[in-house]
Parts: sequence; structure tokens; C-alpha cells
Amino acid sequence: MIECSDIVGQDEAVARIQRAMSQSRMPHAYLFAGPDGVGRRTTAIALARTLLCPQPVSVAAGRSFRQACGKCPDCRMVEAGSHPDFHPVYKELAAYHDDSEVRDRVMQSLSIGVIQQFLIDAVGRSSTRGRGKVFVVEEAELMTHEAQNALLKTLEEPPPGVTIILICEKPEELLPTTLSRCSLVRFSLLPREFVAGKLAEAGVAADEARFWAAFTQGSVGRAMALSGAGMYEVKREVLSRLAGLPPAGDVELGEQLAERSDKLAETAVAASRKAEGPTLAKTLASRQSAGTMLELIASAYRDALALRTGAELEIIHADQRRQLDSLATRFTPEQLAGIIESLSECERLLWRNVNPRIVWDNAVLACASGTALRV
Ligand SMILES: [Zn+2]
Repeated sequence: MIECSDIVGQDEAVARIQRAMSQSRMPHAYLFAGPDGVGRRTTAIALARTLLCPQPVSVAAGRSFRQACGKCPDCRMVEAGSHPDFHPVYKELAAYHDDSEVRDRVMQSLSIGVIQQFLIDAVGRSSTRGRGKVFVVEEAELMTHEAQNALLKTLEEPPPGVTIILICEKPEELLPTTLSRCSLVRFSLLPREFVAGKLAEAGVAADEARFWAAFTQGSVGRAMALSGAGMYEVKREVLSRLAGLPPAGDVELGEQLAERSDKLAETAVAASRKAEGPTLAKTLASRQSAGTMLELIASAYRDALALRTGAELEIIHADQRRQLDSLATRFTPEQLAGIIESLSECERLLWRNVNPRIVWDNAVLACASGTALRV
């Protein structure tokens, strides 16, 4: 179990929450905002456990923390995701909605149906274990305007003992009325050395650890996931192949990239099955994985562009400098910029349901020739 005092790299966020608790004027609605993989969810669960634990403790770790005991049945139930007063709310809950129309809708937003049934209605029911209730809304920016408007009153004045934590990446995408009713806690990207250190602790080699820290710009969660999925070897191989790509392209490479991306999606779906919370849908996982692969490739061309133009940017693929130099000498800055643009166009095509194989073939062709995409 991760408790408040174990959360690292987010001192300011944790201090804000701790201050509020010690002064016993806890806000009843929080907005935890920041990039994915930096501890928003971990902190939300640690806070939920502290609020639902009948015997929270004070520990001194540099400063004093009020946190869950970590031993009682309530603490264990929150951890296992089975506490009756701990309510994660996420878009995939639509699949369990009473109304078949809500069930059938594509789950790309948090609909009013889900917010009404799993949050607003559930808030109104009394606490089972008598210590209040905690709701954690994942990807809160996906709430439709209708859902947000329906939630306003609950956010402003929930019944006593109810705490609602909205988790989001981009608070500016929420309605101002929603924002103004929440106490905003910002989570920042973690220092590169910190992320690299965490990976090293998990047994990742130094070069790889440094690479993921730079590539994810300091998201320990994302770095761990990509490293765990064996993506470092994949990126090493792909960058080597790209550096030696003949101008006519390489049909085999397109096929392999499509396969790699599929495999990464399968790993992500399997990992989400093991973790608490929603299971990742295969189509979504496929698009996200392809997006990650495209991002990995684009970052190499961005490095090459920086080397070519002498721009003072952080070089992400520093572990494959020779390959970067070869890309930087082979293409003009305009061509490199064109390749990067083509790769983001590829991602847009995937989201528009274009056959992944066609997209990958075109991505390889753009990388080989330095000419814009022709789909
Ligand atoms: Zn406890």
C-alpha cells in the first residue's frame, strides 16, 4: 500500500492536502490535475484510504503526515477495490448502466448517464461503513457538458462526509463552473533523474532508464509501463532500421511495426485486466499503442532535426547518437520537419479508422523518402 508519506516528487500537492486535513477544513471536491503517470491516482487512493480508515495515524517523515493505518479491514478493502464507500467512476462503467441505450453508446466520453447513476445517485445513499464516502472520477475532462452541469450541485454541496476527487490531465477542458467548485491540486512532471532512478531501482539498465525518463518527460508510470512492455529493444531496433532505410522504403518494416504495435496493445490490455479499475478496450489500446510507436519514431526525427539545426533541445535518443547523425545528414531540415508532420498525420488516420497496415506502410515511406504522406 502506498500511503501519503510514500508519495514522492509531488511535495507541493501532498502538502496542500495534508494542510487541509490538519486544519480540518477539507474541501469536499478536489481536482487533481496533471500529466498521466505522475501520481494523481496513487494520491487519490491514499487520500481515500485516509478518509475511510477508522484509525488514521500521524507519521513523521521529514514532516508530519496524517495517513491511513494500512492494516484495518477498511484500508485493505480500498486497496482491493472492494470498499463499499469507495467509488471509482470511469467511462467504461457505461457497460454496467441500467439503461441499454447508455450501455450501447461508444465510450469516448463520460456521459450524463454514468455520472448520474454512479456518482450523483450514489452520493445520495448513506455510507455503508459510517465514515463517509469517496468518489474518484477518472479522466474527468471527458465529462460531457450535460454531465458537468448535472454534477454542479453535488460538487458544490455534497452530503456531509462525501469527498469527490476529479482526476484530469487538462483542467482547462472542464467547464469554468466545474473548475470553480473544486479545490485544484496540480501534479507536475517528475525530474528526469528521479524517474531514471525509479527505473534503475526496478532493475532497468542505466541507458534505458535515462531514455524513458527523457522520452516520457518525467512520467514514472508511463516510463515503467513502456519499459515493462519490452519497448526499449523495439525502439533500438526500429531506429537502427530507420537510419539505414533505402529511399524506396521497406515493406517488411511496415509489417513489423504493425505487428509490434499490436503486441504492445495486447500487453496493455492484459496489464489493465490485472490492475484495479477499468479494463482497456482492444480498439482503444491498439490506437494508443500505435500512437506510442509513432511518437517514438517522431521523437528520433525531432532529435535529428535539433542536431541538424543546432537547436538547443534535449536529445532523447542519446543512446543511439550514430543513428541520429545519419538521419541528420541524410535529410534537410525541411524534410525532417515534413517527416514529423507526416507521422502525426498517421496518428490522425488511425483514429479515423484507416487500416493500420496502410498507415504503417505510409509512415515508413515518409520516413524513407522525406516526402509528405500520400494517403
Ligand atoms: Zn486503516
